[in-house]
Amino acid sequence: MTKTTAQLLDGKELGKKYLKDCADELAQLRSSRAQLTLATVRAGKAKETELYFNYLEKLMGGVGIRLAPSVFPQDVTEDTLIEEIRRLNRDVSVTGIMVFSPLPKSSNPANLFDHISQLKDVEGRTFLKSHFGVFSPTANAVLALIESAAADLRGKEAVVVGRSDLVGKPTAVLLMDKLATVVVCHRETRDLKMHVERADILVSAAGRPHLVKGGWIKPGAIVIDVGENVVDGKIVGDVEFETASHRASHITPVPGGVGPVTNIMLIKNLIRLHARQQVKNGNS
Ligand code: NAD
Repeated sequence: MTKTTAQLLDGKELGKKYLKDCADELAQLRSSRAQLTLATVRAGKAKETELYFNYLEKLMGGVGIRLAPSVFPQDVTEDTLIEEIRRLNRDVSVTGIMVFSPLPKSSNPANLFDHISQLKDVEGRTFLKSHFGVFSPTANAVLALIESAAADLRGKEAVVVGRSDLVGKPTAVLLMDKLATVVVCHRETRDLKMHVERADILVSAAGRPHLVKGGWIKPGAIVIDVGENVVDGKIVGDVEFETASHRASHITPVPGGVGPVTNIMLIKNLIRLHARQQVKNGNS
């Protein structure tokens, strides 16, 4: 196998830089006796979510953020989850609320997320209708990684694969704000290959292993692979990494690309929400 020619966008390294800024801000907040708390809501204890929860608990604990977990049986009703979200909205000790996937098949995610107070919506699930909210941590992570490779996105052709409220849509909005020309592809897109081939910047967030063929990547493109798919017990992205990494100028590995930066952006969002809650409560 020939050596990768693209520069790897190392999310762990970039994440460390952002984490340092967060840790400094949090140390200042602690000196004024502020305690930030992330409430998590889970239906069941799937192995992947358990591992992610444990990881978050360690990461956040390291910078003094407390995790308050609520765990329900896997077949919990939507009404019970909504009741819990409302309780957490009212609980003044809670800074942010994160609802883990997967949710029970009987519940409608959009309906549940609608009940999260915009002042506690740490994942930016309600960002399209919120004046108080924060933006998706994953979209912020994608932009940070892209900007670590290219400072000026003006006029660049950016293709986002996936249109979810959590990743695809907010990423497209951030790229538009940076004056890129953005195309969003999804399940009904007729010719994905044709769009990908035009992309100076490709962001894939479809959750489909190896959906994007390496040979489709435009030479010199920046490739951000958000996908996290478990194949034969290993996590792989949406993009065929080997071939893509010989065509791209920059590419994220999976794992170790978007994920580590997303987790730090989650912390940044908690800090922002805390500040907004202080203003709303007249404490600043
Ligand atoms: P989702 O299922 O809500 O959305 C997937 C999107 O991909 C949909 O809009 C769908 O139309 C599109 N899609 C699916 N199959 C497609 C196809 N064949 N062609 C074109 N488009 C297709 O998922 P999500 O929550 O947005 O997550 C997407 C992926 O990103 C998952 O693998 C998830 O695990 C991962 N993820 C990673 C992070 C991170 O920080 N690394 C964060 C969130 C999600």
